[in-house]
Amino acid sequence: MRSLKNEIEQRGMRIFELVEQHLESPFSKAGFHQRMMALSMRDEQLKVHLFRLVDVLPSLRTSAEVIEHLQEYLADTSDGFTPLIRAGVRLAGVVPWLSARVLRWNVSEMAHQFIAGENPRDLMKTLRKRRAQKIGFTVDLLGEAVVSEREADEYAARCLELLEILARETQGWTDPLGKNSGLFPVVNLSVKISALYSQINPADPTDAIAHLAPKLRPILRRTRELGAFINFDMESYDHKNITLELFKTIFTKREFKDWPHAGIVIQAYLRDADADLRDLIEWGRARGTRFTVRLVKGAYWDYETMKSRQNGWDCPVFFQKPESDTNFEALSRLLLENESIVTAAFGSHNVRSIAHAQVFADELGIDRSRFEFQLLYGMAGPIKRALVELGYRVREYCPLGELLPGMAYLVRRLLENTSNEGFLRAKFAENVSAAELLRNPDELIKKDGAARSVACVQDRQRKNDASLDTASGDIYENSPLVNFVCKESQDKMRSALREVRSRFGEKYPLVIGGEKVWTDQLTPSVNPSAPTEIVGYAAKAGIPEAERAVKAARAAFRKWSRTPFEERARLVERAAEILERRRFELSALEVFEVAKAWSEADADIREAIDFCRFYAQQMRRLGRPKLTQQVPGEESYHHYWPRGVAFVVAPWNFPIAILCGMTSAALVTGNAVIMKPSEQSIICGAMLMQVFEEAGVPPGVLNFLSGHGSVIGAHLVDHKDVDLIAFTGSREVGLKIWESAGVTRPGQRELKRVVCEMGGKNAMIVDSDADLDEAIGYSIYSAFGYQGQKCSALSRLILLEENHDRVLERLIPAAASLRVGDPEEPGIMVGPVIDESAYRRILDYIEIGKSEATLAYQAKEVPPHGYFVPPTIFTEVKPDMRIAREEIFGPVLSILKARDLDEALEVANGTDYALTGGFFSRSPANIERVKAQLEAGNVYINRSCTGAIVGRHPFGGFKMSGGGTKAGGEDYLLHFLLPRVVTENITRHGLAPERAPEYRDEFLWPRPKQ
Ligand SMILES: Cc1cc2nc3c(=O)[nH]c(=O)nc-3n(C[C@H](O)[C@H](O)[C@H](O)COP(=O)(O)OP(=O)(O)OC[C@H]3O[C@@H](n4cnc5c(N)ncnc54)[C@H](O)[C@@H]3O)c2cc1C
Repeated sequence: MRSLKNEIEQRGMRIFELVEQHLESPFSKAGFHQRMMALSMRDEQLKVHLFRLVDVLPSLRTSAEVIEHLQEYLADTSDGFTPLIRAGVRLAGVVPWLSARVLRWNVSEMAHQFIAGENPRDLMKTLRKRRAQKIGFTVDLLGEAVVSEREADEYAARCLELLEILARETQGWTDPLGKNSGLFPVVNLSVKISALYSQINPADPTDAIAHLAPKLRPILRRTRELGAFINFDMESYDHKNITLELFKTIFTKREFKDWPHAGIVIQAYLRDADADLRDLIEWGRARGTRFTVRLVKGAYWDYETMKSRQNGWDCPVFFQKPESDTNFEALSRLLLENESIVTAAFGSHNVRSIAHAQVFADELGIDRSRFEFQLLYGMAGPIKRALVELGYRVREYCPLGELLPGMAYLVRRLLENTSNEGFLRAKFAENVSAAELLRNPDELIKKDGAARSVACVQDRQRKNDASLDTASGDIYENSPLVNFVCKESQDKMRSALREVRSRFGEKYPLVIGGEKVWTDQLTPSVNPSAPTEIVGYAAKAGIPEAERAVKAARAAFRKWSRTPFEERARLVERAAEILERRRFELSALEVFEVAKAWSEADADIREAIDFCRFYAQQMRRLGRPKLTQQVPGEESYHHYWPRGVAFVVAPWNFPIAILCGMTSAALVTGNAVIMKPSEQSIICGAMLMQVFEEAGVPPGVLNFLSGHGSVIGAHLVDHKDVDLIAFTGSREVGLKIWESAGVTRPGQRELKRVVCEMGGKNAMIVDSDADLDEAIGYSIYSAFGYQGQKCSALSRLILLEENHDRVLERLIPAAASLRVGDPEEPGIMVGPVIDESAYRRILDYIEIGKSEATLAYQAKEVPPHGYFVPPTIFTEVKPDMRIAREEIFGPVLSILKARDLDEALEVANGTDYALTGGFFSRSPANIERVKAQLEAGNVYINRSCTGAIVGRHPFGGFKMSGGGTKAGGEDYLLHFLLPRVVTENITRHGLAPERAPEYRDEFLWPRPKQ
């Protein structure tokens, strides 16, 4: 082992010696780029500004725009380089035209650093130069972010075209090493599967493969005919399993089974990488034909860590850089040990990783012409040269395309080059010694690092238990979403769907005062995708049951209101645990009862869990009587009492989350509750009742009534013994409740409190500099996700005149690419609407739209049965048209045009509603303006306007969207409580304790007598 260590060090030193002989900056071009890199490496904040500026630049059309952005991004940067930047920004103010040109030119030069050519002609110039240096190539067509099938088809066509050009232009080129050249065709193409199908859904690998395979086959055939090689690049983790599965599926089929010139990537930064590589090798052996694996560390580390943290998922990548390096070495050995079936391509610029592979190949007696090193265009030139000199096969990864579609690639390279942990930075910018760079990475792993993921879970528990001393912004850790990338989750969901289906038609009772109550009427609940299927029946309550429920609640209230908040908090936490346990089953029920897509259904259950835990935590914060001021001789304690009997009325579109949120808030604050689900989601309601019963809610504290809103709903709203109404639903019903609750009835004790959340007519504005890949993807999701039936859904997309046509050109094909169908199938985005009356109402609105505006798109094919409304887009919509003002609650999107941002804001704010709103822009100044001026309870910048998360995005609107309450927010529980203060003079003849305790709760919950 020791000799292997010495060997690696010696080999590494040799490479370094050769590198020193040809030393040049790895970023080869001096000037702007190098200065930018140097600045970025010294100042993280400045780096973010600089890279954001680079990102937006290609989409700016005028010099004035360029200068505005330059000023917005850099004028206020406070760091040691300010004078330099200030000077640049000042110059821009004086000669904008010149400065804009210079800046554009510099950025485009910098892009040329990493992009081998904007067009095939430029590319060929590069490839010829490399050929002279004995360096081969693989070409990558830039433009991985496709939003529609039209764009995906264009990408496939461009791949074919490129293959022809490469084959033609490289005729007569021979392998630089001459030996084993049969393993390494000259023409080598790298493809990204996300660019070939716009609707990849990680939950549905079968669908992805069914669409990708036919698109790939013609490319593969042509590659084979031309004697070329194809490589499937690896992208983010959510595409990993699909890419591997696709590769194995295609190359197991007869047509390509004996073709050796295909490769795939394994990313060593993934914890799964070892298992995936072993599986591939086993597959390769069974197939019996060689294939290639390009081993890399992985280019999406920042994205993966951020995304998994946002969603509460286990992080798929290692946390420590040396772990990735060590894994790279272990996987290099595995590859070389299986050289008889797999050709290794080592994709790294790290001399230690490279030297290790070389030494290990020598150990195994593998000739250096039987594997290759691959490096990126524009990076680590001296290392490439050194490897060629040492007689190794070197291939350069050459991106081809224009800057705009290449921006994602460029930003990845900039991040990589400036990363604190990167090899290139350490070697070429920080001059770390060769000995240090060649250290065995295994020795550098901090052994307590592995405990980090465990620590995350403990951290979550600690945070959620915390009561009084947590800082704002760090108060609550959400329950993780189910990650449908994992096959195990897909399987669990499938089996839950089967299980729930087998219980179709079961009957559920009302629950009043702890008793199951049946009435002589049952209400059926149907599957909107197949209305002949009855998901279940619930007993239907009438006025007598409503009366009984009020009495039961009233009777239970006294004791419940005096139950210590800790006990109440534990009850709702137990409910959260049960929801967690029944998570897949309840999600499956939502798929059938309200036609939610898998991930939407799961998000609903997650939200319900979060509501329980978050409100429990908030109650612990609020529950204890708190001293108002420390004054001698007197103590005053501010605290809360529950209001009384709460009537909870919930909608069907978040059938468990919203019902559970309002109910858990009412319960944890000590109110007794009558819970009424929507008529369209009674089975979900019945399930939630089961959850609370199992959690141990005392009889009468929670009562479950299902029935007509117009009958029992109206009766209970008006009831003198109902003290609080928590309502989420339509504006029509909400306003009636609001008015009716304002009337004081004979015998009424309290002024009724109404928590009222209603609909929206939500707008998103797309600025002229917006990232259109993102704007289009998120707009489509916000408008058509869950069939547009979220109260937060986008219904008005406001485009600036300047980019109106450009956005539409991509938006309409994107809408046309959506998968419409029965959401029982994973990966369906648009299902049926909730029921026949919604179906008819939305179709009526579409007719109104046709008469008012221009029908720009309507899906042609939707399933014939079920309440499927085709996704529809209207253009030329004016602000005063009905489709621009009235809530449609379906998959209908209106496009409005605005002259400029002022007008766009005026249009956005010009409705009765103020629920959600969004803005896509890369102008910091415009973003600040919209943040300040958009009239919406929840404003979202550069993301979808749906999907609020408890604690993170407290949700609720104003104007006709609601009474200004924020579900999932810190002040929500206050609406369920009455504030009280008790003051006691504690002086006796001048004698008083020095200090009063900060909290006292004995008087609220007297300890039982011993
Ligand atoms: C020819 C070629 C093709 C490539 N194709 C792909 C591809 O298809 N898919 C893909 O994802 N990447 C691909 N890459 C990109 C490659 O993953 C990065 O260039 C590479 O990770 C940089 O690694 P390195 O060994 O050159 O540098 P090093 O500096 O040694 O390693 C940097 C890498 O370490 C990892 N890392 C950084 N910080 C941490 C941390 N805290 N904890 C754990 N790991 C960390 C990251 O992967 C990072 O990129 C390719 C690279 C090359 C050269």
